[in-house]
Amino acid sequence: MIIDYRSDTVTKPTPGMMEAMMTAKVGDDVFGEDPSINELENMGANMFGMEASLFCPSGTMTNQIAIKCHTQPGDEVICDESSHVYQYEGGGIASNSGASVKLLQGNFGRITADQVKVSIQPDDAHRAHTSLVSLENTSNRGGGSCYDFEEIKKIQAVCNENKLAIHLDGARLWNALVAKGETPKQYGEAFDSISICLSKSLGCPVGSLLLGKKNFIKKARRIRKVFGGGMRQAGFIAAAGIYALQNNIERLAEDHVHTKQIADVIATKEFVKMVLPVETNIIIFELKENLTAPDLVAKLKEHSILGYAISPNRVRLVVHLDITKEMVAKTIEVFNQL
Ligand SMILES: *Cc1c(COP(=O)(O)O)cnc(C)c1O
Repeated sequence: MIIDYRSDTVTKPTPGMMEAMMTAKVGDDVFGEDPSINELENMGANMFGMEASLFCPSGTMTNQIAIKCHTQPGDEVICDESSHVYQYEGGGIASNSGASVKLLQGNFGRITADQVKVSIQPDDAHRAHTSLVSLENTSNRGGGSCYDFEEIKKIQAVCNENKLAIHLDGARLWNALVAKGETPKQYGEAFDSISICLSKSLGCPVGSLLLGKKNFIKKARRIRKVFGGGMRQAGFIAAAGIYALQNNIERLAEDHVHTKQIADVIATKEFVKMVLPVETNIIIFELKENLTAPDLVAKLKEHSILGYAISPNRVRLVVHLDITKEMVAKTIEVFNQL
């Protein structure tokens, strides 16, 4: 038995999801004729109370399309220094949009309205033109931390006052919604665009949705084509998304319980310097000097437990749909013996 905590992207479709995929109605989506994609896009937009949505192959693509839609070359994007859009999208903000980035030091990936306010460039010919604020909820490198929704509303107000667009990288927004008892509609009201992943905690093999106003999505559809993301009979994978939205959201609470159970044991280990606050399905912990992250990952692997060294002294474990109660018990047993 391999227990794979490297990411919540390692899940395989369940029999129910496979059945939904096998029986999906499909058509050519570049002609707008794939009924399953149309259904998924409508479903996503309705859940968030947003006008329209666009199905894309990845969360990187939905984020990068959104950034390109919201900016002009030479503009500046405000985000936390640990943001996925900056750290893990291949420098796409620069290469796809020709925009620069203003990096803020947030609290476990979360930035504040006050920080945003003082980071907006003055209207001066020397300066870049600030046009977009991008938030991430939950924050991946922040250890799955969740925003306080009141702070998001304050950031939205600052954006409105300064005519900035506001985008959410909600790759794991589902985890935040379940952990905080919030609704998708709240988020739909707070952002100009939202990217959500179906391939992370929800267990789909592929896919992300970009949500926004009708005109925004029209522009996004054109950019998706330019990026090479126009797909044909992709209803087979959209059907997995529909299934996931109907079946796999509420169960995330179980993942959160499992995550806390494992983190509580890790926190007691002598070789652990600190564990980032655990709010959802991610555990990031830092090691003391006598043990490196790659060494611990190798040691765990001997016990068939896979983790990820996100830096020389930090290890990340992500809990997901394919992690069973038995696997959690085994993991706790292994940590107890380390
Ligand atoms: C995974 C992830 C994405 C998108 O990743 P893809 O692998 O391109 O789907 C975006 N943002 C965050 C925070 C993520 O964790």
